[in-house]
Amino acid sequence: MTGSPDTPKDGLDRFTTAWSRALLPGAPPEAVRELRPRLLPAARGLREALRARIPDAVAGRAAGAALVAADSADPETVGRTLECLDSHAACCLGHEGADPAVLRARAVRVGAALATGFAEALRDRTTTEQRAVARAALGAQNLATQALHESEARFRAVFEGAATGIWIAGPDSTILQVNGAMTRMFGGSDKALLGRRFTELTHPEDGAQTWRLHDELVGGVREHYRVEKAFTRPDGTVLWTNLTVSLLRDADGRPQYQLALMEDTTERRLLNLRLRYEATHDALTGLPNRVLFFERLEKAVAAGEGQRFGLCYLDLDGFKTVNDSLGHQAGDRLLVEVADRLQACATAPGEMVARLGGDEFVALTTGTDTRRGVDDLAERIMNALSTPVCIDGRELTVRGSIGIVEGPAGERGAAEVLRSADITMYRAKSAGGNRFEFADPEADARAIHRHRLTTALPAALENGEFFIEYQPLVRLQDGSVGGAEALVRWLHPQQGVVGPDRFIPLAERTGLIVPLGRWVLEQAVRQAREWNGALRVNVNLSPCQLADPGLVRDTERILQDAGLPPEALCLEITESALVGAEDEVLRPLRTLCDMGVDIALDDFGTGYSNLAGLRRLPVSVLKLDRSFTRGIRTSPADPVDVKIVEGVVRLARTLGLSVTVEGVETAAQAERLRQLGCDTAQGWYYARPGPPESLHDLVLADAC
Ligand code: C2E
Ligand code: CA
Ligand code: CA
Repeated sequence: MTGSPDTPKDGLDRFTTAWSRALLPGAPPEAVRELRPRLLPAARGLREALRARIPDAVAGRAAGAALVAADSADPETVGRTLECLDSHAACCLGHEGADPAVLRARAVRVGAALATGFAEALRDRTTTEQRAVARAALGAQNLATQALHESEARFRAVFEGAATGIWIAGPDSTILQVNGAMTRMFGGSDKALLGRRFTELTHPEDGAQTWRLHDELVGGVREHYRVEKAFTRPDGTVLWTNLTVSLLRDADGRPQYQLALMEDTTERRLLNLRLRYEATHDALTGLPNRVLFFERLEKAVAAGEGQRFGLCYLDLDGFKTVNDSLGHQAGDRLLVEVADRLQACATAPGEMVARLGGDEFVALTTGTDTRRGVDDLAERIMNALSTPVCIDGRELTVRGSIGIVEGPAGERGAAEVLRSADITMYRAKSAGGNRFEFADPEADARAIHRHRLTTALPAALENGEFFIEYQPLVRLQDGSVGGAEALVRWLHPQQGVVGPDRFIPLAERTGLIVPLGRWVLEQAVRQAREWNGALRVNVNLSPCQLADPGLVRDTERILQDAGLPPEALCLEITESALVGAEDEVLRPLRTLCDMGVDIALDDFGTGYSNLAGLRRLPVSVLKLDRSFTRGIRTSPADPVDVKIVEGVVRLARTLGLSVTVEGVETAAQAERLRQLGCDTAQGWYYARPGPPESLHDLVLADAC
């Protein structure tokens, strides 16, 4: 039974295939194959309708609807379907043996029903689609309205509640709306802003670029800009802001509104100004400090052509004494007074005074004629300092040394200029202070060289760059070598052998003389040991070493370690170091003397010592300065020098001291000095300072 309604089965298939082809004329076979299954339900419906005794209009309409459902909604579809039905109904869709004429007549009615069903289905589908679009459009509209509303509400909330000031201005920059924060920034009333043009709100501190950026924005050239801008509030006070202005365009892209966001930076700015003031001014005197001064100096030395600068670098003489003796408070008050006086000296345009720190001040003058200007400035400063300062009822004399650098802008950097002024100030100080000196490139170069040597000294000691030469001390009576003076030298890696006159003063200034002197003592004593005690050794002692509390202990230890008696050592100390020395200073020398170490008064005759004072000095040798032996060298000998030597010898005899003469260069000189009663001589006539071995040879030669 199952197969009977569908027989012949291939009739339905053939019809469906023919129908599909009819609907897709010229289409490739795959497209036809694809359409077939979608038409099959409709084909089956048509067959049912044709086979019914009374053709079923419902089945026909359903077939029409099925066509629409199969996406065959083309207007041609119905016509082609009807043709196909007409030609195939009899052969493909009828019962076996059915009357073809009857079938064709039925096909006409079924076709009409199909057309109706097709039209209905098409209408329904269109309606449904339209409804869907309308619904979607409506939905979309609702959503848009809601979103707009929400965004507007949000904008309102932001606008009103924002801590940032906001205004909206029209295309001509007239301010149309302002928010609460903006109103508050301007003192509580929006009258200062509403209806006014932004371009009216100028301020003297406006940079040129503020208004250039504004014009560009209004002209649509830029979308936004950000500037720091000041405004004057209605009460006259200044409002500093960070202002960001953005351009809002209309639908056609034309500039429409300006949206300004403003942040009040007045307090931050004041704080910054205060911090900047504190960072650039000296807390004690209120003067500009090193930082600010350096900024100004940098500007001055980099100024344009024809511009010059003059710098006075002032350091008070003896300020440390005031601080140490009267206390820091008095010192501070003195500095404040000096600062006030200096400030009064530099009031002209282009002049400034600053405190670099401690008791160091600078005064700067700039302009085209600083050559004369700086001279006047230095004079004014010296004058200002000349009146004593009264502190706690005491009158303090203030003196200062000034180093001056003057020159054209554009040649040297600020640091170099400052250093040159500093160096020059030191030169003024070493020349006795209370004066001003002008910078001199050669003096600067020497000072820099000295500075380099000074900084290299500590490493030189560690690296073993020092060595000692020995110069024999000869007994004038018999010409035998009694000892030798140890003289230190520095084998500098770049400069070769550097003499003690060049580096001993530097070592004294930095304190390195103490370890260096100890090293020389160690080496010299060890060398005396090598000589088996046959020669005494003389070692120079710097006045700084006298202040070293370890001097006596170190000397004792060094002698003990070498196994030498104290008598084998003579320490030479310059006369000037001991003139007027307090007992305290002399104590270590006295201890050493008591131990048996000889003490020689070096460079005797140059220190203007009070001869009577010699008695209290723990010395056993007077070493007459070279300058006196020089006069003995000439022939005839300088009668004054001869008298001096005679006098010194007589004095030495009275005090029980022996006399050594230095700088003996000729045999005649040696002979004359012997006749004058000197005990020991040293000089090139006998030997130049040399390696310890050369002494050994001399001693051996003596022995022969
Ligand atoms: P000084 O103690 O007066 O040493 C004598 C200086 O005269 C030495 O110079 C020596 O080379 C030089 N001299 C020796 N004989 C003659 C001569 O016949 N004619 C001339 N024109 N000069 C002669 P030097 O070695 O350059 O030492 C210079 C100074 O350096 C020394 O003067 C001494 O004050 C200091 N010095 C040297 N070594 C040391 C040391 O180890 N410690 C300390 N504190 N000072 C030292
Ligand atoms: Ca000496
Ligand atoms: Ca000497």
